[in-house]
Amino acid sequence: MDESPTLGLLERALHASGYVVAHIQDADALDRALLETTPLILLIAQTLKGQDGIPIAQKALERFPTLPVLLYADHDDTALFKQAIRAGISDFLHPPLRIDDIVDIIKHNQKRAEHMGDWVRREVRRTTASLEKRMDELETLVKLGRTINSSLDLDNVLTSVVTAAVELTGAEEGQLLLLDDETSELYMRAGRNFEENFARTFRLPVRDSLAGQVVHTGQTISFCQDSPSKIKTAYLVYALIYVPLRVGDHVVGVLGVDNRQNKRPFTQHHELLMSVLADYAVIAIENAQAFQATDQERQKLDATINNIQDGVIVLDPEKNILLINPAARKVFGLGMSDLTGQTILKAITNADFSEILNSISENPLKHHEMAFEDGRVFNTQYVPLPEIGSVITFEEITHLKMLDRLKSDFIHTISHDLRSPLTAIMGYVELLDRVGPLNDQQKQFIRHVQNSAQNITTLINDLLDLGRIEAGFDTRKDEVAFDSILGYTLDNLNQQIIEKNQTVKLSIEEKLPALRGNPIRLRQLVDNLLVNAVKYTPNGGTLTVNLFHDTDQVILEVIDTGLGIPPTDQPHIFEKFYRASNTPKNTPGTGLGLAIVKSIVENHDGRIWLESTVGKGSKFVVVLPIYKKDED
Ligand code: ADP
Repeated sequence: MDESPTLGLLERALHASGYVVAHIQDADALDRALLETTPLILLIAQTLKGQDGIPIAQKALERFPTLPVLLYADHDDTALFKQAIRAGISDFLHPPLRIDDIVDIIKHNQKRAEHMGDWVRREVRRTTASLEKRMDELETLVKLGRTINSSLDLDNVLTSVVTAAVELTGAEEGQLLLLDDETSELYMRAGRNFEENFARTFRLPVRDSLAGQVVHTGQTISFCQDSPSKIKTAYLVYALIYVPLRVGDHVVGVLGVDNRQNKRPFTQHHELLMSVLADYAVIAIENAQAFQATDQERQKLDATINNIQDGVIVLDPEKNILLINPAARKVFGLGMSDLTGQTILKAITNADFSEILNSISENPLKHHEMAFEDGRVFNTQYVPLPEIGSVITFEEITHLKMLDRLKSDFIHTISHDLRSPLTAIMGYVELLDRVGPLNDQQKQFIRHVQNSAQNITTLINDLLDLGRIEAGFDTRKDEVAFDSILGYTLDNLNQQIIEKNQTVKLSIEEKLPALRGNPIRLRQLVDNLLVNAVKYTPNGGTLTVNLFHDTDQVILEVIDTGLGIPPTDQPHIFEKFYRASNTPKNTPGTGLGLAIVKSIVENHDGRIWLESTVGKGSKFVVVLPIYKKDED
């Protein structure tokens, strides 16, 4: 207020009412003062320093909405007062002023402000209490969520859900009923404030009961009434909420709370809480079901793996043991100690096995034979398991190996015994035309006999060769230029290649290192692979032959665009007499060529494998170690 006699009067009246007075004369000073202090009452002139007092008062009220503001007007002005009331001003003063009137007005407004303050404080307290309650509810729900996530004990979780339901709704008792599919009855899976005996024996038919109705309709039921009603065939209640437990499309049970003694009704908010709790219960039930299903599957798998005859070891990517079955323990005589987590090479100290395991990463042929000194032989198979590591299986093939040996011995003896009579047949057939004239038909018959005898001779020679290579008689190894062997074979095959109109794409690395080997056998190897490529590739096809080296090995690739070999035949293709199922009838051949090739490769400490797609072609890859001077 500007300086004036009235100001003095007002100050005196305020002092008389017990106030300390601060006198401020412009809007900015008022702003500053309001930052430093909280006034109990504000008296403001209609204009001060030429400024309109009402907006200034309004601004102060924004900061202190319950502050009593009195407007001092120059005279009684209804229009001005209306405007002031709209701005939130509590009362007015105008001349003529008497100090008693001023004190009365001030006291009156002060009292009103005090009442208002009390009311605001009460409201704040009430809202805070309600917020605290909501916080408690949230905390209970969060805790319950944690229990569900961390506990697999369904009883424990469901009891927690029911306890929370009773606590959050303030109910007398609560229960979680589940449907027994066989009897179509609801039984109490968890209860709060029920006698244990009652809870255990409690059974409610789905038909003709309120809880059953919830199961049927999938709708929440909630009621309260003055006289207790009997929940059909069960017990008397005043108020109740039943919410469905829904798993997928099915209602599997009901979560309920009720009041039997007091008449306190449940609210909509309680219903909402109950449906949240029902969701929690459903999550717990689903978790338990999923866990049970997984556990059952795991048990089945365990039983299978523990009882199969083949040894099984599962490894993680670092080759630590994840699982080892009794059959695998027996293979290596490992006893029953716990090997889980151990490095495989530490747990199993068999030299053959270590070698196989170390070579696995670079050897795409995943079958390996492992022989023990006591005569047992196992077919070891390594299979990578994405995201797990790998599995190694051991199949005992001792009896098959014995049969194989017997068969080889038998074939070898027979071949040997057949050779002499065959030579005699060939010799005498050759002599026939020298002992007398033969007609044309006789000559033709003789040619047939010679051809057939020649085929048998080839077969017998192959068999004897195979026997020799397998027996490891070819111990002599020389420095061999593999590229010239390849050139020689290709020259010999040239005529056939031209006849079949096939294209040969040849790539031989310059300065290819020499091999250490038996030149005759290596020629046999290259011959067999290339003869096959020509034989099993139709007219007009392409043969690609690559010969190169990589660190200490020479690699030969023979690729054709021929028939291809079906996946089911591929594992057997290097076996004796084996011919692929898609080989056209009447294709000459014995099925011994690849067996010889494999034996030669193994005899030279090399490796061979194939990749083939039916209708597209085949690729045979041979890897042989290069010649090193100090090996001689
Ligand atoms: P043979 O050719 O005398 O039958 P091999 O041991 O050389 O015997 O080959 C075995 C079988 O493998 C053949 O009968 C044929 O089914 C299949 N095979 C070999 N090489 C090829 C190839 N390049 N393309 C398609 N199939 C092949």
